[in-house]
Amino acid sequence: METGVTTELYPPERIGRVREATAKAGLGAVLLTPGPDLRYVTGYEALQLERLTCLAVPAEGEPFLVVPRLELPAAQESPVGELGVELVPWDETDDPYALTAARLPKAGKIGVADRMWAVMALRFRAALPGAEQVAAGPVLRELRMRKSAAEVAALREAGAAIDRVHRLVPGLLKAGRTERGVGRDIADAIIAEGHARVDFVIVGSGPNGANPHAELSDRVIRPGEPVVVDIGGTMPSGYCSDSTRNYCVGEPPADYRAYYAVLEEAQRASCEAVRPGATPEAVDAAGRDIIAAAGHGEHFFHRTGHGIGLESHEDPYIVAGNREPLEPGMAFSIEPGIYPGPHGARIEDIVVCTEDGYEPMNVTERGLVVVD
Ligand code: ZN
Ligand code: ZN
Ligand code: ZN
Repeated sequence: METGVTTELYPPERIGRVREATAKAGLGAVLLTPGPDLRYVTGYEALQLERLTCLAVPAEGEPFLVVPRLELPAAQESPVGELGVELVPWDETDDPYALTAARLPKAGKIGVADRMWAVMALRFRAALPGAEQVAAGPVLRELRMRKSAAEVAALREAGAAIDRVHRLVPGLLKAGRTERGVGRDIADAIIAEGHARVDFVIVGSGPNGANPHAELSDRVIRPGEPVVVDIGGTMPSGYCSDSTRNYCVGEPPADYRAYYAVLEEAQRASCEAVRPGATPEAVDAAGRDIIAAAGHGEHFFHRTGHGIGLESHEDPYIVAGNREPLEPGMAFSIEPGIYPGPHGARIEDIVVCTEDGYEPMNVTERGLVVVD
């Protein structure tokens, strides 16, 4: 990635905002080990190793990155090298937890990254017995949930890449092929179309389409069977894609056509409910009410969506009970499903809340694609 792009996506001033949020939350510091929070704050895609790499952002004082001496060149070459953050290398016989603790407040609350390994959180607890460890998630979520223009552009790029993969699916789906065979080709296409990593490939044929998180199986796809294809990956930018479309190898059953039309209407209604000030709960209800009115309420048994960014599932969750109003820049999936068996369907787009509505990151046809 060229530096200009990195700086836009991972602006150097972000670490200052994390420090402010840390102070505002009443924490003495946050400790971020490799994972999405560390990448968000610094742009550094560090390896998660048994050797401790940890960015400490104290509420007062300067942030520093504790890094194994072996990883020092990687850290220096990463965007973190340009942030002006002090790099604190440690040698094989040093105790990196004691090293970190020595520079931190000895009492009060310390936020640890949600994805920090338990063994590391426990070592920090032992190194700072007077401090209380709490999840850093609530501090980071406030920032990560509201995407910058550069982040939205990265999500748009991810959406376009997964859309290109969906356009290839009709050429891969054939009666007689197995889900696994089709899934393997889709995984290759996810990489070929620009992702750095495949996150998941669901090819749910026939009855497997009625299971929202079906694993790829050796099941042979038969003529006349609907197939749910839910796929996603992570782009070199760090940002994720996730889109679900529905295909049928030959003419689908009549009852399927009927509930598919309801699903399309429901998915559109939830998308159109997205605007600043709307609650996730209301966005969920907009589609769910349509599905329930058509008699399929019990066949839609999951939330409408999840936030997306540097993780494919993050805040905000589009679910009953979430009344935290949407704001411009929030990005999430709208993915209602109807699963009556012996088949099912789900339509999923990533959308971003804009100043006056929403922008879809996925633009392929939502209608059923009949493959012959
Ligand atoms: Zn899921
Ligand atoms: Zn999905
Ligand atoms: Zn999803």
